[in-house]
Amino acid sequence: MDTLVGRLKHEHQTLVCMTGIYCTAHHGQQSGLLCGKCAELMRYAKVRLQKCPYGDAKPTCAKCPIHCYKKLQREQVRTVMRYAGPRMPLRHPVRALTHTLDKLRRAVHPMELRRQRAVEKKYKSPIT
Ligand SMILES: [Zn+2]
Repeated sequence: MDTLVGRLKHEHQTLVCMTGIYCTAHHGQQSGLLCGKCAELMRYAKVRLQKCPYGDAKPTCAKCPIHCYKKLQREQVRTVMRYAGPRMPLRHPVRALTHTLDKLRRAVHPMELRRQRAVEKKYKSPIT
């Protein structure tokens, strides 16, 4: 079941692409397939994305102020990114480009978002 939509779905697909590149090179998987360990990591990543408090306003994970991954999975994803990151423009030029553009968007911490909303509310309320 695919419950991710919009930006979150795109982020997951990018991650799967990158993991695929890494898995082929390091775990001897056929291109387009993932070994058990990598597939498990992608399942984990999907659950994290489903619970992302940003929703569609999500920054890229590397820039996200919330470190929602557990230490082990975080390390695994970082290893994948380090290897596949520089190789992405060759395999998936369009996806790599949109991901780069995503990175330029500033990440706003949820607490800051809440504060901004509170301020907006204050100014919108009628003056008595
Ligand atoms: Zn693998």
